[in-house]
Amino acid sequence: MKKLTKESIKKFALSQGLDLFGVANIERFKDAPKRMHPASIFPEARSVIVVGKRILRGGWRGIEEGAYWPSYTYFDYHGLLNTLFIHLPLYEICCFIEDFGYEAVPYYPGVPESQPPVKPLRPGGVPPNVHLAIRIAGTAAGIGEMGWSKVFLTKKFGPRQRLAAIITDLPIEPDPLVKPKTICKRCMECVKGCPSAAIPHLKENKTIKIKIGSYTYEWADVDMGKCTLSYHGGDSRVSPFIHKSFPEWDIDAKKQNFSEEAAYKFCWTLSLGEWRKTEEFPSGYIIEGHKMISKWGVGGSYGIGGSRGCMRSCFNYLEKKNLIEQTFNNGDFIKRERWLLPAKVERRK
Ligand code: SF4
Repeated sequence: MKKLTKESIKKFALSQGLDLFGVANIERFKDAPKRMHPASIFPEARSVIVVGKRILRGGWRGIEEGAYWPSYTYFDYHGLLNTLFIHLPLYEICCFIEDFGYEAVPYYPGVPESQPPVKPLRPGGVPPNVHLAIRIAGTAAGIGEMGWSKVFLTKKFGPRQRLAAIITDLPIEPDPLVKPKTICKRCMECVKGCPSAAIPHLKENKTIKIKIGSYTYEWADVDMGKCTLSYHGGDSRVSPFIHKSFPEWDIDAKKQNFSEEAAYKFCWTLSLGEWRKTEEFPSGYIIEGHKMISKWGVGGSYGIGGSRGCMRSCFNYLEKKNLIEQTFNNGDFIKRERWLLPAKVERRK
């Protein structure tokens, strides 16, 4: 049997349509909590392969212009990109590795924050579900680094990618780590562009730090309650759909202090829930536009805020300054004065 090398796996991965590939050895996770540790899923793990595929710049165009939402949810956010475009090639790589007699665990990036309060199934074990922090795994695999906004950045696309991983018992030479602040320039464009003021400014000195190898990575301690409220449809300033469906709404995400979980609970029930059909609201949905977008999101989620600061402002800046590799013939992404609606929804006469 031919020998399985890192180069042959990478070549195969890129030939399957993936854009990014990196490897961490298991030792790079030594400081990870057990419930976020790859070896808690596969104790014999020797390596974690992290792969990524770009989010199209054009996926955000409709939201940036305030004109069209479905593309981002359907293709880019939690639609086909996160359910098919990455995961089909990921599965093929696992098959490729297992053909050489090594076990390959395909890992779908979940949310560590959503781990339920349950006991381990084995005494002394780790309770389900274990979730890696996929952006930290990407950093450990040398693909990129955490930006100030807590969004993962690469030299090729800036903040525009999604990641997934394979945990394997195949020992593979790890890729070199990206030195902290190589890609993120602490420009604070993400802070300025975030409608819910969820990202603290550098001057506030509110940060999270982790160590991988000899490097310390540091990023802003983002207020995930504000972020979620704005992103998932609790903020009428970024959602014309609330203006259509909820007269007298007056919730400015900047002023709220929800926890992340409370913000999810608030946004998802109102965005996806149903209500009786009346003459005033004939659709039977609480916020009809959000529900319709979620129906496009084959992965079950939906994006309303569309990452105004942490993604769109960020790549606009990085492209403009020639700090990332992929640039565009049409110049800046942000071409016109940006829109924000009033928080208060006036009742229609
Ligand atoms: S906009 Fe991007 S590059 Fe600038 S500070 Fe934020 S994360 Fe870093």
